[in-house]
Amino acid sequence: MTDRMPIIAGNWKMHRDHLEAIQLVQKLAYHLNPEDYEGQEVLVCPPFVSLRSIQTLIQSDKLPIGLGAQNCHDQDEGAFTGEISAGMLARLDVSYVLCGHSERRALFGETDEVVNAKVVAVQRHGLRPILCVGEVQEERESGRADEVVIDQLRGSLQGITISDAAELVIAYEPVWAIGTGLTATPDDAQQMCAVIRTELAALYSQPIADGVRIQYGGSVKPGNVRELMGQPDIDGALVGGASLSSEDFALIVGHRR
Ligand code: PEP
Repeated sequence: MTDRMPIIAGNWKMHRDHLEAIQLVQKLAYHLNPEDYEGQEVLVCPPFVSLRSIQTLIQSDKLPIGLGAQNCHDQDEGAFTGEISAGMLARLDVSYVLCGHSERRALFGETDEVVNAKVVAVQRHGLRPILCVGEVQEERESGRADEVVIDQLRGSLQGITISDAAELVIAYEPVWAIGTGLTATPDDAQQMCAVIRTELAALYSQPIADGVRIQYGGSVKPGNVRELMGQPDIDGALVGGASLSSEDFALIVGHRR
């Protein structure tokens, strides 16, 4: 048994304008039962432009839903046209920031060094990083998945102290399973989450490793979430496509029903 509180987060990516975003959260709140929130965190990560609207909705309706952002810049302010700082996100009651999502790594050239600077910035502002790691198909097929994920962890956590490490959430997202409909088997997902925990113990300590929550992400759906969440080292889910349906996301959150 573990006392790690599960965390289920919806990554909306670049979907929904702010009016649609309000509707989606309202519908989600309607579909969720009070017991679905009990003992687990529920989070939505909308595009930046919707954060303020959803913050207001969460506050006014007292919804037990947390707010996450999908990215941030590593600097606090400056001449970085088009960028958003972690401090700005903190002012919007954002509590988590995705760092190093595979789409950021693949499409926007984010290296482990860049991801590391973002993790540091997020923690500097009292927010929690959800650090995303995961191998591509070819790395899995060539038997290098563990090595790749361990390298990403080490590179992204440079200089992160033991007390900051305790606040991390790690999302294991095999790149080949993101948005493809392919899901890692529960056994494969569990195996990699255990590898991540072992590496955290080596980098920090066993108590830190035992406390850090590790999500699985990659085509999580109502039909597969229960088995994934039943694995001993999987403490939550990072959900892309299915989080855009209030019904499906509510079923995922309510998988214990
Ligand atoms: C994601 O974007 O992090 C993700 C896991 O997407 P999907 O659930 O659509 O595979």
